[in-house]
Amino acid sequence: LEKTLSSAQKKAIPGLILYRLKTGGRTVDDLGTNYDGDGPQLDYRSRPVWHKKGDLDAWIARELNLPPALWGPDRHSNDLMVATVRELVKLRQKGIVADWKSGRQLNLFRLSDPNMDVSRPAMSLKEVRAEPETEYTDDNMRSTFLSIISRSQKDNTYKFALGKTLLDYCIANAPTGRTHEIKYDYLAGEFLKHYWYQKYKFKMRQHFHGKKTPSVIRILEDTFGESSRFKFKDVAQKDLRRARREILDNVFGMATKKKGMVVQRFQRTREGNTTRDSTIFYDFDDRKQKIFLRPEAHGFFRKNYGLLMRALLAEWVRYLERVNHGLPMLAAKLYDEDSERGSLARFRKLFLERSDHCFYCNRLLRTGRIHVDHFIPWSYIFDDNPWNLVLACQECNLGKSSSLPPETFVGELVDRDARYAETWNEMRVSLVRLSARGPWEREIRNHYTLCTEYGFGSWPFSPRLDTGK
Ligand SMILES: [Zn+2]
Repeated sequence: LEKTLSSAQKKAIPGLILYRLKTGGRTVDDLGTNYDGDGPQLDYRSRPVWHKKGDLDAWIARELNLPPALWGPDRHSNDLMVATVRELVKLRQKGIVADWKSGRQLNLFRLSDPNMDVSRPAMSLKEVRAEPETEYTDDNMRSTFLSIISRSQKDNTYKFALGKTLLDYCIANAPTGRTHEIKYDYLAGEFLKHYWYQKYKFKMRQHFHGKKTPSVIRILEDTFGESSRFKFKDVAQKDLRRARREILDNVFGMATKKKGMVVQRFQRTREGNTTRDSTIFYDFDDRKQKIFLRPEAHGFFRKNYGLLMRALLAEWVRYLERVNHGLPMLAAKLYDEDSERGSLARFRKLFLERSDHCFYCNRLLRTGRIHVDHFIPWSYIFDDNPWNLVLACQECNLGKSSSLPPETFVGELVDRDARYAETWNEMRVSLVRLSARGPWEREIRNHYTLCTEYGFGSWPFSPRLDTGK
């Protein structure tokens, strides 16, 4: 990924110019009607003395074995052309090179003294060519990674999922100084997990109306249905295997070359109208279904994990926000998809000091069977705020699970929160935080409505008559 000439390449340029002016180039006769030069040239009419700037650059580019990024129609940089102009100007100031422009399109150069003694540059060109100094630097890797995640991509979020998978792999596996082989099958398994959580646990939408459903989502729906009552760890293994296989075939492009191609496309960067396939982070082999993670990239991902992950999540959220309006805590959910909610024991005590009845059925709570329940499901709210916590009996808690209580309870929750906030500072603070965008009562109702729209099921609560027992 060399977008700039290395210092060794730059040093070689003046010698290469002189050597080329001495040994290559066009004759006066070659120039034909373009020639309207001054007298001395006619004296060596058949000797190679004239050089077009473009020809000179092309020859030097070949000598230095420059990559397409530096030379040719797909180049990203004019480094070479700038460097040769600079050197030609210097040589001309020293009187070594003479230049002359014809009245036409040509820009020509020659040695002032055609008999000047010029030898091939002493520096070994092999060394210059072999020099990899700029290839896998942190700077190059950082700019490539940021370019990958931030360029616009309309159809799906695969590049984010692959980026996160690679970052997490590098944190979980210590570098060995050697290339790590990662199977496409492993990547497919990670994709399955990421998108399963997004679809079933968090109910995130993945595509715009009128756009094609991403393959990974279609595969999930075909395998697990529109919604799932399971936790990921409880899903049937045979279904997981089937979905993983399908993702491998369709998203990683093993079935047909036209599909998916996530691995192949990830490192494709775009500048202006040109795209370029780099292998800065990994090489890959479709036949072996593996990527070969470079040790440099492994170290780089590990060292810069926090920074890169934050940048990646920000872009992922930016994409998903447009189709998941109002859904809270997107970044936290993407980052911490498999986190389970923490212990709420502290809250049990605080709520019991205020009421010892089930919030839903109003039964007297019995020691050992007192549950702290997220009124609006935790997998939507993704936080433990007192405003959203209620005490529930075992039956209500298990029955409700991670669905929404009937809407009639919303008013009761609002009343209760207001009442508790009068004497309980932590409750008051949680309501203040909630009211950043408007009155907190309205925010609670908004959350409730949105949660319904995102397809969190509702709990068919039937009131009990045996209250107070
Ligand atoms: Zn109850």
